[in-house]
Amino acid sequence: MNIFSHSQETETYRQNIKLLPIRRQTNTVSIGDIKIGGTEPIRIQSMLTSDTTNVDACVAEISRLDAVDCEIIRLTVPNQKSIDSLPAIRAEMAKRGIKRPLVADVHFNPRLAINVCEFVEKVRINPGNFVDRKKFEIREYTDVQYQEELERVEEKMLPLIKNLKKFGCALRVGTNHGSLSDRVMNRFGDTSEGMVESALEFLRILRKNGFEETVLSMKSSNPLVMIQAYRQLVQAMDAEDMHYPLHLGVTEAGNELDGRIKSAVGIGTLLCDGLGDTIRVSLTEPSENEIPVAQSILQSTRARIYNTDFISCPSCGRTFFDLESTTAQIKARTSHLKGVKIAIMGCVVNGPGEMADADFGYVGAGPGKISLYHGQSCVERNIPSEQAVERLIELIQEQGKWVDPA
Ligand code: SF4
Repeated sequence: MNIFSHSQETETYRQNIKLLPIRRQTNTVSIGDIKIGGTEPIRIQSMLTSDTTNVDACVAEISRLDAVDCEIIRLTVPNQKSIDSLPAIRAEMAKRGIKRPLVADVHFNPRLAINVCEFVEKVRINPGNFVDRKKFEIREYTDVQYQEELERVEEKMLPLIKNLKKFGCALRVGTNHGSLSDRVMNRFGDTSEGMVESALEFLRILRKNGFEETVLSMKSSNPLVMIQAYRQLVQAMDAEDMHYPLHLGVTEAGNELDGRIKSAVGIGTLLCDGLGDTIRVSLTEPSENEIPVAQSILQSTRARIYNTDFISCPSCGRTFFDLESTTAQIKARTSHLKGVKIAIMGCVVNGPGEMADADFGYVGAGPGKISLYHGQSCVERNIPSEQAVERLIELIQEQGKWVDPA
């Protein structure tokens, strides 16, 4: 049995179709009350667009994210003033009954990362700029010089590791394509290999100092680079017997359709590889818009089931009813049936065969006539189309798959 899939349903699905690798075995990392990795569901997270020093704006945005079920919320911490705002943000969250864990995003300043541990459940650092200042120097590092740089990184990491342990805080080593250190750039270039090495340098230091609550990301605005970097990272970690969970994301993906497609390609491909323990869809839009996209990517890859799965044909000259309005009508009545698969097919020629995966089928049988299927079996033929949606609901109820909407 694959103990690493997080639910019987996704496990069975992956085993049945035999094409998808099983979910990669990872450690479990606690982010406050929520866990990432292992057999936990793949978590959805987002990041505030509000200024962290604006408590009211942050709490309003956190409330909107909470309402759409964002499980982990990151905010930027560019200065001490931002850290000073965190107690007020947390107090207001508590007043509103919001328990989402907070993640501090820190760049360039190890002191801020150290200070913020007390107020958040996770800290994100960028290994490209945690200690190193980007000077874009072209320089050949000897092995001795390279090692000296790593010792300097370790020295700066030690007080952070101490505070992470003291406050039970997790860490994300978040590598970004395009912000690698001069040291890594000179030796590996601006490549996915460089991204992997950048993360490994930090992982080795963390492991050497007994810190294991680490999550990793390898983001790029180019989904191909991002996919390559995550795959290489996994190979490199396997070689060093490391099993840290992965945070997946395409950074600066853009907005609207392009942003959604880029995220779906990058994140979805890796989920199909069995990789990924938490995801963030990064859109140039209000942060709450990211959550339904993330849920849809998880649902489409059957990595996590949120709602009903609809299968509907595109319609063609053979279609016996208005597919668009009928699909909308069926969705309006049944979209709360988590995990139930409903197919809506325009005709019997290809319909029943192509909806084999569905639990229930609504299929055009002739002009004004609908046939209903339960699995592969036709259970009712030639129902007048004006009664067919109601009969579909009754069939779902008879088969014990119905729940009332919340
Ligand atoms: S299922 Fe029938 S109606 Fe729908 S696209 Fe295929 S052939 Fe056309």
